[in-house]
Amino acid sequence: MSSILKQSVNHSKALERAISFEELSYRDGMELMNYDNMHILGAVADGVRKKLIGETVTFVNSYYMNYTNVCAASCQMCAFYRKENDKDSYVLTKDKIIQRVLSAKKLGITEIHIVGGFHPTLTLDYYEDMMKIIKNTYPKLNIKAFTAAEIFYLSKLTKNSVKEILSRLKESGLDSMPGGGAELFHPEIRSQIVRGKCNGQEWLNTIEQAHDLGIKSNVTMLYGHIEKPEHIIDHLIKIRELQKKTNGFITFIPLKFSLDNTELEKNKLISTECASTYDLKIIAISRLMLSKMINNISVYWVAYGKKLAQVALFNGGNDLVGTAFSEEIYKAAGKSTNITILELIKIVNEINRIPAQRDTFFNIIKKYK
Ligand code: SF4
Repeated sequence: MSSILKQSVNHSKALERAISFEELSYRDGMELMNYDNMHILGAVADGVRKKLIGETVTFVNSYYMNYTNVCAASCQMCAFYRKENDKDSYVLTKDKIIQRVLSAKKLGITEIHIVGGFHPTLTLDYYEDMMKIIKNTYPKLNIKAFTAAEIFYLSKLTKNSVKEILSRLKESGLDSMPGGGAELFHPEIRSQIVRGKCNGQEWLNTIEQAHDLGIKSNVTMLYGHIEKPEHIIDHLIKIRELQKKTNGFITFIPLKFSLDNTELEKNKLISTECASTYDLKIIAISRLMLSKMINNISVYWVAYGKKLAQVALFNGGNDLVGTAFSEEIYKAAGKSTNITILELIKIVNEINRIPAQRDTFFNIIKKYK
């Protein structure tokens, strides 16, 4: 570490502790949220990333399928949901699902990422059949499906326990779960950005049961809207605590709030997306708060764009999520979302790191250097 960096770090107890790989407390986290030298913070997070993970930047060849945009909830931060009678509402039929899986197969996809709205009338059979159809059509595909929030809703709707729902879906082919629906757990902020979705504790309880059944998952955090620093740190600590219990989280994916077409924008509660420096701060602090507990910090290029994603990889990130073919949720909020493996390799090569295609569980399939 350069002497200038050393001197600067000496002024921050939290950074000193981070460099020594000590577990950061809530107070440390708050200190970092208020720390305004992004160069130092980013450099420390980058150093920790190097020690924990090395120079490889991973990505998965993934295909997104949103089976329905009909949703009983109406979250203020969401541009995706429709009501059943809306002209552009849809539910994918069996035939459509097969078509989509065959398209994924042609692209050499290894993982299908499936999420949807809280459909008020679809029965559990629909979800079980979806899993079976996909497994029959393309057995090698890892089915990463249904957020903990969808599972919780389905449990309430069908009056089955969360465990029963998860067990039946696993039996039908579910391999892993995405990390969505976590948003921010703290009730003070959650009540202002979601309406009709499970609370933070219910999300955590649901994902814990999935982990207990051997279903690993990702975990996300939606930031860059109307949250306060304490909501970010509270969220990260709750994730870290659950990881100590289950070791079931695969990667942490901070999701930048995308403004267009959301109720938060329409009601003028927020008029611009957060600054890039805040994005980098969130990546860096996530790396430091989760250090040694979750060592994969994913940079979601769909939300950042390719150039900022490159910078984020020098502020603590080590993974680019994936190709995200056919992504629709960020698309509804005005972002372009498709990218090929070759483009991902180029992003990584340009910053002189090592591109590697991975599977859902971060096993390396192929290195490109
Ligand atoms: S975020 Fe999810 S639960 Fe909330 S309205 Fe959108 S689709 Fe529905």
